[in-house]
Amino acid sequence: MLYTTHLEIDLDALRHNARAIKQLVGDRKVLVAVKADGYGHGAVPIARLFQREHLADWLGVATVSEAMALREGGVTLPILKLSHAFPEELPTAIDADIALTVVDEQSADEAAEAAKVVGKPVNVHLALDTGMRRIGAEPEHAVALARHIDEDALNLQGIFTHMPVSDTTQGYDFTVEELARFAKAVDDVQADRATRGLPAVPLVHAAASAGVLGHDLSGLTMVRPGIAIYGAYPDAQTPRTAALRPVVTMRSKVSFIKRIRAGETVSYGRTWTAPTDRWIATVPVGYADGFNRLNSNRGRMLINGRSFPVAGRVCMDQTMLDLGEADDHGVHRGDDVIIIGASGDEYISTDELAELAGTISYEVTAVIPPRVSRQYF
Ligand code: PLP
Repeated sequence: MLYTTHLEIDLDALRHNARAIKQLVGDRKVLVAVKADGYGHGAVPIARLFQREHLADWLGVATVSEAMALREGGVTLPILKLSHAFPEELPTAIDADIALTVVDEQSADEAAEAAKVVGKPVNVHLALDTGMRRIGAEPEHAVALARHIDEDALNLQGIFTHMPVSDTTQGYDFTVEELARFAKAVDDVQADRATRGLPAVPLVHAAASAGVLGHDLSGLTMVRPGIAIYGAYPDAQTPRTAALRPVVTMRSKVSFIKRIRAGETVSYGRTWTAPTDRWIATVPVGYADGFNRLNSNRGRMLINGRSFPVAGRVCMDQTMLDLGEADDHGVHRGDDVIIIGASGDEYISTDELAELAGTISYEVTAVIPPRVSRQYF
């Protein structure tokens, strides 16, 4: 059998998190963000689980190819591409019934043009920019743009925004103010549609995980959690209004153990020197497996319930651990190594790895490449 360092995805934890979010949002629809291969957890298996067990109403992707991978994997749930597509991608997306994001007149016209070519109706969600300054129209322009979308014979299915600081306490007031401006723009669009005899736009969405956990959702009919489903909180300051369960374990095993002498050095650059005679374990996981090189001489891994520090620089495919000087270190070739997750009473979270690497937990799992196989339990 071929062995690889792998990720174990706890499906029960995923179910638990989806239900915990559902409990917070009541009868609002839930769009689960499965972009970036489900933040590295595997978009297709997760989407299939959520579809089979009715744990999501919608899925959110970043690219048309992500949406196509879901469709090819048998996923029939509604999918929203969370940013606007390039014109050359539109026929493929429309043919696969992907709901499109519209940010201005041009993107609406491009969608309408492609819809004519494909001969299918298109659902669109109008993105408003209430403060993120990434994509979307000014809220004051929402009514005019909604009219333009109707003139283009596109089906305006949703209106949404995305918030930059809904995860922090310092960002609370900014977010409240943003949500109010968004609500006003949505009210204006709905009122204008009513005067034209059109039904209200059904899907109004603004809250990702942080919004769901820490903000008032009134007026919203759909939420868009990602990281909370995968068991992490967006930020240390985000309110813990749902008890989330970690989903991922990253596991490898000891490939080699050796004794080195005091004064000898370990790994590239000779940045770690053995203070005494030492036992060193080698683990076949490196920065090309998503174990950030900033773990060099700072990170740790768990073996048999004990924590061992990284000795020297993390290599592309291997990392060395300092087992200490005692002969009874209790570690053997082939022993399990935990890079993310629990071993005995010890625990390494994605947040701990993120902190060391100067990033956020999202990136820790999203950059774990395909050679680290995913296993589902
Ligand atoms: N909605 C949009 C538009 C996003 O870009 C993202 C992720 O960045 C999400 C929802 C999900 O965010 P989170 O993982 O913080 O819940």
